[in-house]
Amino acid sequence: MTDSATGGTQRHILVADDEPHIGRIIQLKLERGPYRVTLVSDGQIALELLHSQDPIDLVLLDIMMPYVSGLDVLEKTRQLEHRQATPVIMLTAKGHDADRSRAFELGAADFLTKPFSPNKLLARIDELFEV
Ligand SMILES: [Mg+2]
Repeated sequence: MTDSATGGTQRHILVADDEPHIGRIIQLKLERGPYRVTLVSDGQIALELLHSQDPIDLVLLDIMMPYVSGLDVLEKTRQLEHRQATPVIMLTAKGHDADRSRAFELGAADFLTKPFSPNKLLARIDELFEV
């Protein structure tokens, strides 16, 4: 698939969510847009990919995940020199104020509470890339 809007290169989005059906819905939605998606089901694997040099244009992180929480993935991502400016959107079933505050302190671009509309998520991602 070619994509003239991004100069022929699809933007790569890393999605980490331990609920397979949610991850799959997000993946299908984003892949219908101009995006390439890597879906992983825990925070440890997400971190391994973030440590790699693989280009990643945006990260979607569920908060409640096995091994490493989404917030801890976000914190560790910000310590990686090559990922400091990578936009991160947090997804969570529990919109605790403390989690929200920590996410924004760590530089999250947005914080979405489940259930969220896949259309809204896609629109938000499109918006982030246009800025
Ligand atoms: Mg979860």
